[in-house]
Amino acid sequence: MLEVKDLTKVFRSGEEVAVRALDSVSFRVEAGEMVAIMGPSGSGKSTLMHLIGCLDQPTEGKYFLDGEDVSLAGDNQLAEIRNQQVGFIFQQFNLLAKMSVLYNVEVPLIYAGVSRKQRRQRARDLLEEVGLGHRLDHYPTEISGGQKQRVAIARALANNPSLILADEPTGNLDSETEAEIMDIFHNLNEEGHTIILVTHSEKIGRHAQRILHLLDGRLIEDEVVV
Ligand code: ADP
Ligand code: MG
Repeated sequence: MLEVKDLTKVFRSGEEVAVRALDSVSFRVEAGEMVAIMGPSGSGKSTLMHLIGCLDQPTEGKYFLDGEDVSLAGDNQLAEIRNQQVGFIFQQFNLLAKMSVLYNVEVPLIYAGVSRKQRRQRARDLLEEVGLGHRLDHYPTEISGGQKQRVAIARALANNPSLILADEPTGNLDSETEAEIMDIFHNLNEEGHTIILVTHSEKIGRHAQRILHLLDGRLIEDEVVV
């Protein structure tokens, strides 16, 4: 489903010394897997997620998604992959503050050219699925952190992506809410969704079938969770 080979990302800014945020990272993820990425702050976790999510491009290396060589994709193709094949969930939720919960979930469907009536229905169904059917007309400021993350999950699912990426999705939540959000990820995985999730927490990492350990931009261990 996904394969990265010798993926390298070097950041250069001004006169500063270049940062090798990712250094020749290679691994595969099969369809239906839930994989956790762990490592200390600055080890390259977010950089890796951005590359996999087509939010950024590697300095070197190959990236195959659903058999397609993404490293050869141009900007337009990357934007399309980002919108159609990948669902991204962030620690900071990244919702549109001035838009309703319902509209937030409709946004990726607008980009995908889905008609107004269809996207309304799809967004309603998804919000129902994450337990927010009663909050459609609320604004992000009017709901809790856990509810915001549920909206973000519904939005990530809108275009029925083949891959769900989550970067510290429970990093801003208390432990009870964290457990609720992890239940949702579990259910999604059981429904067959492929999930890659960055976490600091060993406890959350254990929810996955595999843990990729990063250190200083290198993949130091590909651990099978037993
Ligand atoms: P993590 O998510 O594991 O905390 P990151 O992937 O955010 O780590 O960062 C890895 C390294 O790359 C860090 O040294 C960080 O400072 C650097 N880095 C990340 N993004 C940028 C950027 N846009 N410009 C320059 N350096 C960056
Ligand atoms: Mg990070």
